[in-house]
Amino acid sequence: MRQPFGIPAWQHRWQARHGWLLLAGGLAGSTLLILCGIALQRQLRPPSAPQPGSRQLPSPPAQAAWISPLRAQCSVQDRALVQRLNGLRQALPQRLQRIRIDPSNFGDRFREDAFGNRLDVTPSMVVMHETVYGLNSAINTFITHHPNDADQVSYHVLIGEKGQIVQAVDPSKRAFGAGNSAFNGRWVVTNAKLSGSVNNFALHLSLETPLDGEDDGPAHSGYTAAQYDALAVVLADWMDRFAIPPEHITTHRHVDLGLERADPRSFDWQKLQIRLAALGFLC
Ligand SMILES: [Zn+2]
Repeated sequence: MRQPFGIPAWQHRWQARHGWLLLAGGLAGSTLLILCGIALQRQLRPPSAPQPGSRQLPSPPAQAAWISPLRAQCSVQDRALVQRLNGLRQALPQRLQRIRIDPSNFGDRFREDAFGNRLDVTPSMVVMHETVYGLNSAINTFITHHPNDADQVSYHVLIGEKGQIVQAVDPSKRAFGAGNSAFNGRWVVTNAKLSGSVNNFALHLSLETPLDGEDDGPAHSGYTAAQYDALAVVLADWMDRFAIPPEHITTHRHVDLGLERADPRSFDWQKLQIRLAALGFLC
């Protein structure tokens, strides 16, 4: 069964987020706090964090399993779409704009967790976000030095309204895109005093929010065709390079254990479906 957007918990989550956004909104000019993917390095203490060295892994709290809206599809009738996307994919190396962000906003992927257990540093999933504010606002946040853990934030890739593809963090590095989070029962605890996160094994990608989404409403006018094109091409590149299956493409809303995130709002899975199928990644 598919998990459509607008599940019954939607309103509750937005109410929870509402209060938080009002607080954040009071901090004038601090676009950082309004970005959907605040790193939230000050994560909640897990109920029973083991002592370092015990090698006992604290499990994430219960969470609904991810049921991907993407489904197998081996052919696409729209030949023009297939041609366009394959052209875009070939041109990705030239289109990728790499920016140098402040080192406080990202890090290396941990090779050991807080309890000495070895970790696979190959990314194995993708978390999609939205910027809430514009592309340049997000970039300005990332290039700004943030000495406090709670302010540090980044995504690997930003996709602008016109289909611009901006790589802020190399996929080999750890972007600070999600705080207290897990995916299908998995998280990585890198500080025994804090709860875990998906950041160590995730790739984070954020879509620029349209102007009418610069608020805490439950929806906006959605993303452009150019954004879905760019998204599909970046996802295809990552799926290819890191053997990430389509069912490991998810949302910040789903992985967030604090039930505070709702992004990306107004995301149309069907538009991603047809594009990934056109690129041959759903067969
Ligand atoms: Zn987010």
